[in-house]
Amino acid sequence: MFKTARIKLTAWYLVIIMAISLSFSGVIYVGVNRELTRIEDYQRVRIQRIIGGIPAPYEPPPPDVDAIAESRQRIILTLGLINLAILVVSGAAGYFLAGRTLEPIAEMVDKQKEFVSDASHELRTPLTSLRTEMEVALRDKKMNLTSARSLIRSNLEDVSRMQKLSNYLLELNRYERGAHLEFSDVNLKEVVEKATASLKYKFDLDLKSTEVRGNRDSLIELATILLDNAVKYGRGKSIAVKVKRGGVLEVADHGVGISKEDLPHIFDRFYRSDKSRGTDGYGLGLSIAKSIVDLHSGKIEVESKTGKGSTFRVTI
Ligand code: ADP
Repeated sequence: MFKTARIKLTAWYLVIIMAISLSFSGVIYVGVNRELTRIEDYQRVRIQRIIGGIPAPYEPPPPDVDAIAESRQRIILTLGLINLAILVVSGAAGYFLAGRTLEPIAEMVDKQKEFVSDASHELRTPLTSLRTEMEVALRDKKMNLTSARSLIRSNLEDVSRMQKLSNYLLELNRYERGAHLEFSDVNLKEVVEKATASLKYKFDLDLKSTEVRGNRDSLIELATILLDNAVKYGRGKSIAVKVKRGGVLEVADHGVGISKEDLPHIFDRFYRSDKSRGTDGYGLGLSIAKSIVDLHSGKIEVESKTGKGSTFRVTI
């Protein structure tokens, strides 16, 4: 698909460049041709004048028609060669540039494909489990109320897992599409207070009052993701949460930390380090956090050491 697109794009580049080049050549040729005709006329007049003073039977020599015609031909040939060279060079350069132009689009499409395949994979696991459990239950002729209840409970767990994933996906899509969020003056201190209230954990809070321009709900979501991760990967140790003046939020835990190999990927969609595979999650939290930060034209940084802990710093 990208090969044909690249060729088409190159063809368009060539059409534009050649149209410009041929028009210039046309203009040059018309100009030079006019000049040659003028020289031809001038030569004729000069000869007429000279022979005006010479007695007959002197025959005036004709203007040097051959030399002028030859010049015309040489000009056409030179212009033709120049245009051919432009065609070859711009064809090669156009093909190269078309490749460069399409590269990020190709990358984006690949990422999108990977994303769809990851999402389908994540959905397949709970769906398969749901189906198997129900099929087994249907075959069980003597199923009692207790096992029916336990089946429903297990099914509900799978359903809620899928619900969580679909909510994550919708949210990610909303933020990545650059959803039109209403911005207002928001106090980061209040945002963090709201986020910590929804989590049952005793955080070490040091919150200064600082106003930022942003969307309140999405900032609460961002803080919740960072705090939730700190709790999840914090091994139950203390978690310091700071709001500093200038729109800075810092969440520092003393948990498992993130290895050097994982660090460049943690904001990728569906990325989970090997250590966190057993825990509940999809590897989408930090992608959502990053999209929210991007929507606020802010930045998110992380410092981490395996076994020592991690510090996430957001500046809005
Ligand atoms: P999830 O937590 O659902 O796996 P996230 O996108 O929130 O997904 O995080 C991606 C990965 O980054 C996690 O799987 C984990 O390996 C790592 N990570 C995120 N936050 C922390 C943290 N505070 N401490 C250690 N690892 C973390």
